[in-house]
Amino acid sequence: MNPSVDRSEYCEGMERIGSDIMENVLRGALEFEPSTFTEHDVRAALSDDSVGVRGFAALLSPVADNMLEEIAVRAKDETHRRFGNAVGLFTPIYLSNHCDGGCVYCGFSNRSKINRMALSPEDAEEEMRAVAATGLTDVLLLTGESRRESGVGYIGECVRSASRYFRSVGIEVYPMNTSEYACLRECGADSVTVFQETYDPKKYAELHLSGQKRVFSYRFDAQERALLGGMRGVSFGALLGLGDVRKDAFSCGLHAHLVQRRYPHAEISFSVPRLRPFVNSPSYVNPVSERQLLQVAMAYRIFMPFAGITVSTRESPSFRNNIIGLCATRMSAGVSVGVGNRVGEESEGQFEISDRRSVAEVRRSLEERGMQPIFNDYVRT
Ligand code: SF4
Repeated sequence: MNPSVDRSEYCEGMERIGSDIMENVLRGALEFEPSTFTEHDVRAALSDDSVGVRGFAALLSPVADNMLEEIAVRAKDETHRRFGNAVGLFTPIYLSNHCDGGCVYCGFSNRSKINRMALSPEDAEEEMRAVAATGLTDVLLLTGESRRESGVGYIGECVRSASRYFRSVGIEVYPMNTSEYACLRECGADSVTVFQETYDPKKYAELHLSGQKRVFSYRFDAQERALLGGMRGVSFGALLGLGDVRKDAFSCGLHAHLVQRRYPHAEISFSVPRLRPFVNSPSYVNPVSERQLLQVAMAYRIFMPFAGITVSTRESPSFRNNIIGLCATRMSAGVSVGVGNRVGEESEGQFEISDRRSVAEVRRSLEERGMQPIFNDYVRT
């Protein structure tokens, strides 16, 4: 990887904030040699009160893969101390699948022959009413990456509606400038999720064939711009399986860590998505095992004990049940990954989901296991 990614490819209108975090993360990833760590390094990390960057790297190493039981003890302890047995529940609402992105791994890619649609603000509100009726008070609004079809004004209108039905509104849309995040914050958005997908700039260029998403560095700085725009929380994720899993997980953790150090007030969280089959690519298989996924999530937990960790319905009910007690603190429920499916629209999903349980079923399953489903932990003032 080349730590000095060319920033000259910025498109017109893209804001530059002059952050050095990307260079530091790419340099750290370049220096990270997973095979050099020993069992002694992993045990040293596990016995540290506060695990630093080197300890985090050890926890992600191949040798640590044989020590998951020991790692799980520490991860479970950290989770219990910071979060008790609480598990936050939320659901995504897909507003639009129009997308200029040519991401080769995604069912919404502009090369996919799918039924394109964007919910009208009225239909979006109807969908929100349907979600609110399930008892959920925390939602994530998503769009594909098309400024033309789902502009900031449209997203803002949907955020305003959502903030009437829900106590916490997150957005997972295209990266924006600080002033645009400030505008959406004003409309009622609380948090921003941006997955870097892979932190390997060369692989990133191969996988992202068109659209503004091609600009690696503009995407990289999105969480900082969101915080500068006043957002309360930001979420990080690498789509595991696109690049080298250990390097991508290490880079993602380091990215979040450096942002937390610069913005101590920020609520930081991780998602741990891995590749799923998607429309028009039925033979696609998961290249990342559940064991690897668990190792990554537990390393995040031990490295950043206060961070939320979200596990999505890409994963099976049994895996989600298990990871929740160990390190994950938030899960989606009653999920539809198509646009407007709750209000009768027929649109393809962005990816295949493995856990189709309703909100009530997820809630019941958590309670049966002694966990406490939390519908919201934030009081809007
Ligand atoms: S990953 Fe995002 S930007 Fe890429 S094709 Fe899918 S929706 Fe579009």
